[in-house]
Amino acid sequence: MSDSFNESSPLKIAIVGSGPSGFYAIDALLKKDIPVEISMFERLPIPYGLVRSGVAPDHPKLKNAIKVYASLAQSPEFTYFGNVSVGRDINIDELKSMYHAIILSCGAETDRKLGIPGEDLPGSHTATEFVGWYNGHPDYRDREFDLSCETAVIIGQGNVAADVSRILAKTVDELKHTDIAEHALEALAESRIRDIYVVGRRGPAQAKFTSKELKEFGELADCAPVVDPKELALNPASVTELEDKENAGGKKVYELFQGFAENPPGNQSRRVHFTFCKSPVEISGKVRVEKLKLEFNRLSGEPFSQAAEGTGEFMELDCGILFRSIGYRGVPVPGVPFDEKRGVIPNRDGRVVEDDKPVEQLYVSGWIKRGATGIIGTNKPDSVATVASLLEDTGKLGATGEKGGAEATLRLLNERGIRYVSFADWEKIDRAEIELGQTRDKPREKYTRIEEMLGLLD
Ligand code: NAP
Repeated sequence: MSDSFNESSPLKIAIVGSGPSGFYAIDALLKKDIPVEISMFERLPIPYGLVRSGVAPDHPKLKNAIKVYASLAQSPEFTYFGNVSVGRDINIDELKSMYHAIILSCGAETDRKLGIPGEDLPGSHTATEFVGWYNGHPDYRDREFDLSCETAVIIGQGNVAADVSRILAKTVDELKHTDIAEHALEALAESRIRDIYVVGRRGPAQAKFTSKELKEFGELADCAPVVDPKELALNPASVTELEDKENAGGKKVYELFQGFAENPPGNQSRRVHFTFCKSPVEISGKVRVEKLKLEFNRLSGEPFSQAAEGTGEFMELDCGILFRSIGYRGVPVPGVPFDEKRGVIPNRDGRVVEDDKPVEQLYVSGWIKRGATGIIGTNKPDSVATVASLLEDTGKLGATGEKGGAEATLRLLNERGIRYVSFADWEKIDRAEIELGQTRDKPREKYTRIEEMLGLLD
C-alpha cells in the first residue's frame, strides 16, 4: 500500500452516482487498509439509483440491498452531496482539484434507439420513462401514458420488458400495497389494456428473461401468459444452446414457455403474448401510434451467437401504446471521454482511457463501465476490480498533491449557493416517505418532486 496517505492525510475519493456500483466501491474502499475520505455526488436529493427507481415495486426483496448501502453511509469517512449535479453545479476539473481520484458510477441513464420510422410518435415510449414514472423518479413524474387502448406492445425480451409488461398486466389489488407511485397506481386503475405483446427479435431459446421473472406471468391474478406452440420450434443451433449444461437458465425459460403454450388462457381479463423472431420495422399512425409493422426473422450463426436475419415477410399489429425495452446506454459526463458507439466511458480495468492512454485520477464502475448488463449484485465484483486498479495507482494519485476533499466541496457549494442534501437530510425524507406510506398501507409513498423533497427539509 502507498506511503502517500495516512490518518491525517487520507486518500480522498469522489464518487459520482449513488447507485449500487457507487456503494460497492465505498464498501471495497472501506475494507482496504488505507485511510480514506469519500464524498458521494448525486444529482437527485435521493440516493440509491436504480434500486430505488428501477427495481419494480412488486419486487421488494431486491431492494434489501439498500440496508447495506445505508449502513455504509453511516461511516465517519463518508459524506453525501445529494442534489448536486456533476457537470452543472461542479465540474470534473474542480473535483480533480479537491480529490485524489474520482470514480464515475453514474449508470446508464438513457435507452438505446430502434432507429425505425415512427419511433418518436406519441404513444411510443421508452421503458426507462415508464419505469421511472411508476417508480416516482422526479424526471418522469409528469410523463403521461395513454392506457385507454386495448393493445400494448413491448419490444425486447429482457427483464426490463418483463417488469413493464407485468406492471401493465397486474390488477390494482396486486400493486396497491407496494411502493408504486400513487400517480401511477391511479392511472393503472383506469387502464383498458387487455392484450400485451412482448416481442423478441430472436427465438424462445434466446429470450433474456431470467426464469424467476418469467415464472411470475403464470401466477398473475387476472392475466394469462400466451405462447403459440408453433413459435417454440427450434433450429439445431438453438437445440445445442438449450442442451448446454452452462445454460440451465435458458432451458428453464424455454420450459416455462412450453408450459404457457400447453395451457390455453381461461377467462382472465388480460393476456400477455410472448412472440418470437420478429423485428419492428415501422411504427405508424395518423397522430399517434396505431400500428406496428414487424418483419419475420430467421436465426443464423453458431450456437450462442445466433443473429436475427430478416426474411422479407412482414405482419402488422394494431396497438395503441408501445414501449421500447431494448437496453440502456450511458450518457456522457462533461469533461470525461465517452464511447458514443457503446454508450460507456472507455476504460481499461476501471481506469478511464482516452486514445488508449489512462486519464489521470479518473476511474469508472458499474453500467457506465461495462454497459447495462447484470443484476444488482454483478456490480459488486465490478466495483471491487475498479477499486483494486485505483489502489495500485496510489503513488501517482498521492503525487497530485494535498486535496481539500469534503470540506473544500462544502465551501465551494456554499459559495455557489447550491442547496445540497446531506445524508441526514435524506434520512428525514426517507422517514417522511415511510410515514406517509403507513397511512396508505404501503411500505412507503415516495415524494416525486424535487421541490417537495427540499420543502420537507426547509
Ligand atoms: P437486456 O437483458 O439486454 O434485454 C434487451 C432485449 O432487447 C433483448 O431481448 C434484445 O434482444 C432486445 N433488443 C436489443 N436491440 C434490439 C433491437 N434493435 N430490436 C429488437 N430487439 C432488440 O436489457 P434489459 O431488459 O434492459 O435489462 C438490463 C439488465 O438489467 C439485464 O442484465 C437485466 O437482467 C437486468 N435487470 C434485472 C432485473 C431483475 O433481476 N429482476 C430487472 C430488470 C433488469 P437480443 O437478445 O436479440 O439482443
